Amino acid sequence: MDASSRIQELEPMTGESPETILRWAYEAFGDKVTIASSFGAEDVMLIDLASRVYSHPDVFFLDTDLHFHETYQLVDAIEERYPVKLRRMSPELTLQQQAEKHGEALWARDPDLCCNIRKVEPLKRALKGYEAWITGVRRDQSPTRARAQAVEWDDKHGLVKVNPLVLLTSQDVWDWVHTHDVPYNPLHDQGYPSIGCMPCTQPVKPGEDPRSGRWAGFDKKECGLH
Ligand code: SF4
Repeated sequence: MDASSRIQELEPMTGESPETILRWAYEAFGDKVTIASSFGAEDVMLIDLASRVYSHPDVFFLDTDLHFHETYQLVDAIEERYPVKLRRMSPELTLQQQAEKHGEALWARDPDLCCNIRKVEPLKRALKGYEAWITGVRRDQSPTRARAQAVEWDDKHGLVKVNPLVLLTSQDVWDWVHTHDVPYNPLHDQGYPSIGCMPCTQPVKPGEDPRSGRWAGFDKKECGLH
């Protein structure tokens, strides 16, 4: 049976609890599944859950060198608290080399190229040798994520994509984080519902689209990872 037929058989997984979906992922792939984490609320919930169902979850972080100080502090706090195997993936180019090759503040002129260099290429390296990746994608985050399934075949990267939180709301995620005292980024309490790199993340007003603070001024809503 080919991968896409197997994935179709797994469609009912979308109705299962995040814990059940994660258990399935670790039983199916063990050390060959990795969690993509940008250390947002969904990601810290995933790490907390994964640490309950697997002894040493593999996690990777795309370290663009442009994250907020608070994000770097959270990465350290999570690594200290949970039994994760954390991989910090750096871009091939330092910020200095990027500026020399493409000019200063590339993010302000060509954010797609900047994301390609600092996120998309490191993501490809992070997934190499793995059979599946786990993400914090939820359907109600954006129209482009509205049809996401708990288990999908990721054509772009050639491996299985597992989205255990796919049916959860933002409130569900925050209930878990607060109930289980999971460390989270304090910027979330200062008007940043979605946190990426410093130059491309702005706070949003109450009631605004949570992702409207990302790449404000550009017709861009995703890094190119999903
Ligand atoms: S989010 Fe902004 S700064 Fe970060 S990699 Fe993408 S364009 Fe560059």
